[in-house]
Amino acid sequence: MSASTSDAAWGGIDLGGTKIEATLFDSNLTALASRRIPTPRQSYADLLEALTAEITWLRVASGQPDLPVGIGIPGLIDPITGQSVTANLPANGMPLGNDLKARNGGFIRLANDCKCFALSEAIGGAGEGYHTVFGLILGTGLGGGVVVDGALLPGPNVLAGEIGHAALPAPIMARYNLPILPCGCGRQGCFETFLCGTGMTRLAKTLAGAPLTAPEVVAATAQGDETAAHILDVWLQIAGELLHSLQLHIDPDCIVLGGGLSNIEGLEHNLADALASVALPGLRAPLICKPKFGDSSGARGAALLVRPDA
Ligand SMILES: [Zn+2]
Repeated sequence: MSASTSDAAWGGIDLGGTKIEATLFDSNLTALASRRIPTPRQSYADLLEALTAEITWLRVASGQPDLPVGIGIPGLIDPITGQSVTANLPANGMPLGNDLKARNGGFIRLANDCKCFALSEAIGGAGEGYHTVFGLILGTGLGGGVVVDGALLPGPNVLAGEIGHAALPAPIMARYNLPILPCGCGRQGCFETFLCGTGMTRLAKTLAGAPLTAPEVVAATAQGDETAAHILDVWLQIAGELLHSLQLHIDPDCIVLGGGLSNIEGLEHNLADALASVALPGLRAPLICKPKFGDSSGARGAALLVRPDA
């Protein structure tokens, strides 16, 4: 990407399990320049060095030595200590936020990548104009973030939206004799075990004895396969219960879908139907929609972490 970087206002870094993408934005959140480097997998020191290189690149490219930089990470960040909880990076339990600030100075802010997605879609994205936007990520994991009037919902853990680790609905588990499986978070029977991408495969294996991928389930359903249609139906029933819980707890007026499963054609309508079938009577339904920025929401949402009014 080439453009004048003299108008640069903020930097955003999307730290993923395989790549680190740094993007320079102007004050209108137009991307001016970006670059990707691989994520070091071996050591914390290598990861710190790679992130420092990205921050330095952003600041040199912008001509601003103190350019504010936001970073989205696949994990949780303690807002006080900067300590990270992340299974997919060599930074678990390390004070990643504080170490980056000590090395690089200036304004650097870290947040969970689902929170960055929610921010990006709430501000100028598919949720623009709505008061309470829930960014729901249906990807390799199941996560989310809540943005109220343009700001992430605050809390002592900045945790709001981590609904993937709430317990699966007992009536559905019993109805289909579904197993209570261990979750990556250390608990058992979390929504994430069946609702994320690999969760659909687990559900297919449990219900039909075939480890079908989510695209395979969807394609077979479209071709009239009754077994696949049943798997998708049970998956949507579980998702409907999740959305019902979201409505009871947060009552969003907009839910923006993200992650790999959000690419499923018509999923937003299927989910709206799934919610309608279990919602309390008489409630106003949230708009459920696809994202505007999708994969590029990571760096954009990270940059939004450091805008002056954030
Ligand atoms: Zn869990």
